[in-house]
Amino acid sequence: DLEKPIQKSFIFPPMKDTVSQDIDHILETQSALAVDLGGTNLRVAIISQQGEILHKMSELTPVTYEQRMDLLVRMLVEATSKAVELSCRILGIGISTGGRVNPHEGMVLHSTKILEEWSSIDLRTPISSKLHLPVWVDNDGNCAALGEKKFGKGKGSEDFITLIVGTGIGGGIVLNNELVHGANFCAAELGHISVSMDGPDCMCGSSGCVESYSSGIALQREAKKLHDADELLVPGVHLREGEEVTGKHVIQAAQLGNKKAEKVVETACEALGLAVCSLLHTVNPSHIILCGHLAPHYVDGVREVIQRRALPSAASSIQIMVSDLEEPALLGAASIVLEYATRR
Ligand code: ADP
Ligand code: MG
Ligand code: ZN
Repeated sequence: DLEKPIQKSFIFPPMKDTVSQDIDHILETQSALAVDLGGTNLRVAIISQQGEILHKMSELTPVTYEQRMDLLVRMLVEATSKAVELSCRILGIGISTGGRVNPHEGMVLHSTKILEEWSSIDLRTPISSKLHLPVWVDNDGNCAALGEKKFGKGKGSEDFITLIVGTGIGGGIVLNNELVHGANFCAAELGHISVSMDGPDCMCGSSGCVESYSSGIALQREAKKLHDADELLVPGVHLREGEEVTGKHVIQAAQLGNKKAEKVVETACEALGLAVCSLLHTVNPSHIILCGHLAPHYVDGVREVIQRRALPSAASSIQIMVSDLEEPALLGAASIVLEYATRR
């Protein structure tokens, strides 16, 4: 029944003399507060049952536990007053976060160095007691898959996988219409698929994981190396005074014909393509949905690696797509709330 058209409910019964004036005035939109906590950005949004982002705030993710929780609570409080202004009825809070998450307990079990001081963290208890709302939590890769399933290119697909490339790489696996969480909530850690016996150090403590080649942080590492050797900037790529070198600059430089930058992007595509080959051979999904700013730069390279290296039977039917959602993880976090809170 989540597919029903716009559902609005009365705040109070309409009085006879005002009802004809402006019916919208006394109607409210059923909505969720959604949080997406990544290695770089912390976002909070108000999202309607139809998946419209009605209001969004974004801040850099603070580095300590205390600062992170303080900022998160402040942003949520601000969002609840914004919801009143917008006549949104908030049904609950959905939190998408990096790290392994026990969604039954609302706990972050463990995170890599991308999110420090973020292991054995109870998110549900402090947030629900401060905001007086029910709280649901899941891993950001899983949330991205839920977002795609409800509002994006996963709609109507029973077996698909999302890969979300941000600071790190997250994954979500939907099989038979259900997210795969695994025995200890560690399934779909797709950023840590090994694509090399050695390879660069990964934030997880291992080396040669796909995240260590193809994530935002990996491209930034390579960008800094090139920049230090004076090999990054070409005509058309500029660094403003005090601007940090990031993956974006490698992408720009590669597009403008910088051969060393092209090589970095090619290697990132090769690594991601190999990881996808392993997924095809393990799960045989119908779709792979690539999410995040880097996805459009990787998709052609990934398709090419699959044609070259996957089993022909696995490669022949797979559809590799780029997400068309602005915020798959935020939308997925919202969808958990909307799904549970309206279940009868
Ligand atoms: P997270 O969820 O991990 O906080 P985001 O999805 O917000 O991450 O993306 C942040 C990462 O993406 C950073 O590594 C940043 O450098 C990179 N990034 C952001 N915008 C772009 C862009 N236009 N092109 C390439 N990389 C980008
Ligand atoms: Mg993210
Ligand atoms: Zn790793």
